[in-house]
Amino acid sequence: MSEQPRVEIYTKEDCPYCEKAKDLFDSKDVEYETYNVTGDDDLFEEMVERADGRKTAPEVFIDDELIGGWDDTSALDETGELDEKLGIADDTEDGEVLEHRKLIIAGTGIAGLTAAIYAGRSNNEPLVIEGDEPGGQLTLTTDVANYPGFPEGISGPELVNNMKEQATQFGAELENGIIESVDSDQRPFRVELTNGDVYTADAVIAASGASARTLGIPGEDELMGYGLSTCATCDGAFFRGEDMLVVGGGDAAMEEATFLTKFADTVYIAHRRDEFRAEDYWVDRVEEKVEEGEIEIMKNTEVIELHGSQEEGVDHVTLVENDQGHPTDRLDDPETEEFDFDVGAVFFAIGHTPNTDYLEGTGVEMDADGYLKTKGGDGGGQTETHVPGIFGAGDVVDYHYQQAVTAAGMGSKAALDADEYLEDLERADSSIEEVEPAAADD
Ligand SMILES: Cc1cc2nc3c(=O)[nH]c(=O)nc-3n(C[C@H](O)[C@H](O)[C@H](O)COP(=O)(O)OP(=O)(O)OC[C@H]3O[C@@H](n4cnc5c(N)ncnc54)[C@H](O)[C@@H]3O)c2cc1C
Repeated sequence: MSEQPRVEIYTKEDCPYCEKAKDLFDSKDVEYETYNVTGDDDLFEEMVERADGRKTAPEVFIDDELIGGWDDTSALDETGELDEKLGIADDTEDGEVLEHRKLIIAGTGIAGLTAAIYAGRSNNEPLVIEGDEPGGQLTLTTDVANYPGFPEGISGPELVNNMKEQATQFGAELENGIIESVDSDQRPFRVELTNGDVYTADAVIAASGASARTLGIPGEDELMGYGLSTCATCDGAFFRGEDMLVVGGGDAAMEEATFLTKFADTVYIAHRRDEFRAEDYWVDRVEEKVEEGEIEIMKNTEVIELHGSQEEGVDHVTLVENDQGHPTDRLDDPETEEFDFDVGAVFFAIGHTPNTDYLEGTGVEMDADGYLKTKGGDGGGQTETHVPGIFGAGDVVDYHYQQAVTAAGMGSKAALDADEYLEDLERADSSIEEVEPAAADD
């Protein structure tokens, strides 16, 4: 029997990415040791030393080799190298089909997991592919206060883990991996993962979400969920009485800034240009709030760094300003002014990118921003795309509401629509089988 390599994970408390790392190894049935560095200075120093000076958790080691944080670990998993290091790589030939499934669901966000619960209960034994963000966007937030049924609120990771447990109880199988392509020229569909695994499936539910765009600036990773958020509707109420900064200049930024005036002392909007991109309706709403003293606008201004800690939240940000606009493109210009600005919360409202690359070439129709088009309307089949057998649910379809509960609702509809489609398919197959022997007798 081959011996499993030693896996060690340094973690800390309230760390969604630590949970994701542990879930990844759990899903592979790989045992690991965890070291919680919260409140343990010696252990923290040990982690920093072993991790080449990095001060973020998680840090993963396999047989003493530094793998890195969650991003590094999941990137290795994507290519299949992680399984090789763990000695669990499968030995199927490249391109060989591993397994046929009735239903494959892309994504383990709220939409995908709800679809998995319903599909499991309909005996469709779904295979649910986790994608590069297992558990979806909700794992990035520590408090979900508006999901029905939890009057005290619930943490995003806990809600997702409960749903995963519920889905697996009903026969869903969760698999780490990212879908690279779906071939709809053949039936069953051929579904290829980035790690080379190939499945076939009679039906596919696309519940792959939309990723909120971020800026990639220092402080962002550490403070996401700790005073930095990409969802004002979700997190605004947690920062009551604070000064808040909204970054962006489109409809979403205007809407979020207006919404945040309910809670904030003052809402500041930082926009990199002189003109807002938002519709007049929203600009007018914001201007009313400016007149009432609730919003202040900082045009030609961009954030270049966030400061604070996970314990204390956001403390202040570093901004740059230049009258010509786009100040980060003019950092060497003597006219560009750099200054620190105190705020208690920051909201990025710079748009979402729907995760639909893997559906290109399938004939599934998308709008100009890449959101999936589904039939919608009344009656059954609302989640059907233009390709029979491919269904869409959650934020990957819904560019407007983008809430956990709306994603759950669409996930359930997609599973019910897929079940009807699979039953029709089964009926059609069995009627062909009935006709064929008769034809042979002639
Ligand atoms: C910081 C933050 C806080 C929030 N707080 C709240 C809140 O309090 N209340 C609320 O109602 N909403 C909240 N939201 C919004 C909520 O999280 C989303 O509306 C909801 O998660 C959408 O669910 P989804 O399943 O459609 O998509 P997602 O949650 O985005 O999940 C998408 C899934 O698809 C997977 N995926 C992507 N590409 C692929 C691929 N190629 N192959 C396989 N899988 C793939 C991803 O890995 C992920 O598992 C918050 C969002 C954020 C960012």
